[in-house]
Amino acid sequence: MEHLEKNRRGFLRAAGGTVLAAGVAAPAALATASAQAAEGAAATQTRESQAATTPQQALQMLKDGNARFLAGKMRQRDLLQQVKATGDGQFPFAVILGCIDSRAPNEWIFDQGVGDIFNARIAGNFINDDLLGSLEFACAAAGAKLILVIGHTECGAVKGACDDIILGNLTHMLANIRPAVAAVTGFESDRTSSNAAFVQAVANKNVVLAMARIRERSAILRDLDDKGEIAIAGAMYDVRTGQVTFM
Ligand SMILES: [Zn+2]
Repeated sequence: MEHLEKNRRGFLRAAGGTVLAAGVAAPAALATASAQAAEGAAATQTRESQAATTPQQALQMLKDGNARFLAGKMRQRDLLQQVKATGDGQFPFAVILGCIDSRAPNEWIFDQGVGDIFNARIAGNFINDDLLGSLEFACAAAGAKLILVIGHTECGAVKGACDDIILGNLTHMLANIRPAVAAVTGFESDRTSSNAAFVQAVANKNVVLAMARIRERSAILRDLDDKGEIAIAGAMYDVRTGQVTFM
């Protein structure tokens, strides 16, 4: 734990952020954040608000944000003010591993602002060593409380993996999704992208496998998860409705 804290401080120095002592919530700042939230205006994440957020609350914040997005009741934000407020340090409450798809912008679909969430995006939202490093930075160094792996419907990368597409660097990249294709059974008549139900089953499995790999391949994140300091969750975004379904 001590070496983790030391590493965390080193990470923060490298990132140009503020070196933190153990976070102690400041009641005044929290009260201000609550008041702003109650008025429908968004509060910018601070060291205090991040420290006071549990993994379960972080998940609920994303659920609530998608509900606001679906209801057309997104919070008011002065984004430039948030830029200025976060310029000297960031305290996001979650990190989201999602696809690059242009229809799945996480800040919008979860109604979040500048400095609220880390985004790790790669076509097909899979895990590799570099992405694991990014998630470790977000949680172990920068204090995020939740990892959300989110897939989406109509995913071109998943379809490409289903069809074994051969195309430049894409061939190698899609190999990361093929284990999900292989793991889906029960669609023996048509295992191609023309079978929408098969494609969606692969997308779902791909999220589940990514969640499992995070724990299998990152001792740091598994340790934080086991201690309850972070949570790892999965979700699916529907590009036709804007709805996020949590697993
Ligand atoms: Zn996609």
